Amino acid sequence: MQVPFVDLKLQYQSIKTDIDEAIEVVIAETAFIGGKYVNAFEKAFADFYGVKHCISCANGTDSLYIIMKMLGIGAGDEVITVANSWISSSETISQTGATPVFVDSHPDFYSIDESLIEAKITPKTKAILPVHLQGQVCEMDALLALCKKYNLYLIEDCAQAHLSEYKGQRAGTMGIAASFSFYPGKNLGAYGDAGCIVTNNEALAEKCRMYARHGALIKHQHQIEGINSRMDGLQAAILSAKLPYLQEWTEQRIANAAYYYKVLANIPQIVLPAVRPHSKHTYHLFVIRAQQRDALAAYLKEKGIETVIHYPVPLPLMKAYEYLHYTEKDIPLAAAYKHEILSIPMFPELTYDQMDYVAHAIQSFYSK
Ligand SMILES: *Cc1c(COP(=O)(O)O)cnc(C)c1O
Repeated sequence: MQVPFVDLKLQYQSIKTDIDEAIEVVIAETAFIGGKYVNAFEKAFADFYGVKHCISCANGTDSLYIIMKMLGIGAGDEVITVANSWISSSETISQTGATPVFVDSHPDFYSIDESLIEAKITPKTKAILPVHLQGQVCEMDALLALCKKYNLYLIEDCAQAHLSEYKGQRAGTMGIAASFSFYPGKNLGAYGDAGCIVTNNEALAEKCRMYARHGALIKHQHQIEGINSRMDGLQAAILSAKLPYLQEWTEQRIANAAYYYKVLANIPQIVLPAVRPHSKHTYHLFVIRAQQRDALAAYLKEKGIETVIHYPVPLPLMKAYEYLHYTEKDIPLAAAYKHEILSIPMFPELTYDQMDYVAHAIQSFYSK
């Protein structure tokens, strides 16, 4: 049996008519950049999410950068984020001219450890940028209280958290603004690069939109210098076709996770993902911690099971951040977990047979 890490082909086959039609229409109308399909997706996503504004962007990295830039974050400022994430979360802080300040991972949930943030706040701190890692929202009450106390912006990186919830509130609706990625493998994925900003703040929405469109809301009337970060019409039409299925796909992920919890219980050498109380984990990733992780991954590969490590090196220990002089002692948990974490196959179309196969393979590895 083969168990791929994700299988985007299966999803395409299940909605082929919708997708093919969406693509055909955009091409027939040559609505490649901007225009009605992009506007329609922005409106659909904002309505679906229950936010006032959705500004589409070229990708989910630009959207983070644009939010921070338009909040006036820049040289001399600091933004706090988590050690264990994809580099978009920190490189965009640097792009504004500000300095990323890294906080260690939470021992159970792997995202930012809220108890360690306050010690990192300085007069230069302008924002906290939590990443709702793996599909699970951070401890928002604590983060919102800190932002209020120190007058900081809360910017949510929701690239992995479409439809995730914290105390009944959706990821992306709690801070000043949030960034989503529609990278193909994300829970709502385009067929290329795409991303968006969501916010309820009208002034910020307008600034972000302007900045992402060369500083002009009306053609040739450039109020400022901006950048070119547009979602193209094909991606917008594909995302609009996929959006009605997102709820169902998310429920399938949750059901698959429930099955994994059952079949992977009672293997003492692994730790299954913990779910934060009062929250809805949407399992963008299903990350276990495993003894002899590398040997296990190699064994699974031999058995036709694909796994990935998210992420093999914590951000502050990367060469890119050598100049900030972090050591493993500054982020002991992320440094220890990098040897244990393993993302096992997770996607809506995963079958019970495939999950049984994964569970048996893990069991047989440890009983060798
Ligand atoms: C995927 C991802 C991004 C960036 O998304 P792109 O659309 O690939 O630019 C940002 N942050 C996190 C945590 C991600 O996983």
